[in-house]
Amino acid sequence: SMKLMEGKRGLIMGLANDKSIAWGIAQKCAEQGAELAFSYQGDALKKRVAPLAERLGSNIVIECDVAEENSLDRLFEELGQHWDKLDFIVHAIGFSDKEQLRGRYVDTTRDNFAMTMDISVYSFTAVVQRAARMMGPGGAALTLTYYGAERVMPHYNVMGVAKAALEASVRYMAEDLGKDGIRVNAISAGPIKTLAASGIGDFRYILKWNELNSPLRRNVTQEEVGKAAVYLLSDLGSGVTGETHHVDAGYHLVGMKAVDAPDI
Ligand code: NAD
Repeated sequence: SMKLMEGKRGLIMGLANDKSIAWGIAQKCAEQGAELAFSYQGDALKKRVAPLAERLGSNIVIECDVAEENSLDRLFEELGQHWDKLDFIVHAIGFSDKEQLRGRYVDTTRDNFAMTMDISVYSFTAVVQRAARMMGPGGAALTLTYYGAERVMPHYNVMGVAKAALEASVRYMAEDLGKDGIRVNAISAGPIKTLAASGIGDFRYILKWNELNSPLRRNVTQEEVGKAAVYLLSDLGSGVTGETHHVDAGYHLVGMKAVDAPDI
């Protein structure tokens, strides 16, 4: 059968372990014939990421801290030594001080606001800036966002403000790079239990709430995010750019769930 990503080369950023959303995406892309490279943050993660990469037939595993311009330059320089052309990138990276992912948004500090915006928003722009130079028409970039960008969600706080900016940056870059045939999109994933998610206050309750109140009456899996990523990164999504695509069991459309109302 024909594979959707045969002959495509993609860089996956943000793989920490086999619970990462990046892992769900990488697996689905590899299943569809894509050739992959990975970046990871800090030496401690290498022993986790390298074996996962190997499972998908990749030995291109490069360290990169997206907060550092030099580190980003080195990543793309090294990637360029392996590949002369890049077809897609996946940015599955976000960070904020865990202490401020609980309590009130209004208490966010200036330092954490700047750091959260830098790592969770600007890093995608910095990555796309460099990746686009290696891409031709048909190139595609994808980032991960959350409904907390659009509506107030408990504990999401400064991360919600950052995701709103990230989604706006997707639209601006879609316009900038559309002329070159490069597409830029985001997937707004429903809650999934990952390392990053476990830093959010009451995350188990958020998971349960989404399970009970989403139209599909369940949570989504990292594999389901992976399948939507294949659509957006492959030729299936050739007419789609600047989009924030919800993979959330429909949760984003709910105003109020239908239940048998009590007599009042
Ligand atoms: P994860 O912990 O598996 O991945 C987060 C990754 O960000 C890690 O690999 C970490 O190393 C990386 N990272 C953080 N700071 C970095 C830096 N300075 N340089 C390089 N890498 C850095 O968690 P995840 O849930 O898979 O998160 C991936 C993306 O998905 C994030 O943007 C997150 O906000 C988004 N998202 C997650 C959920 C969810 O419920 N898990 C829902 C919607 C969106």
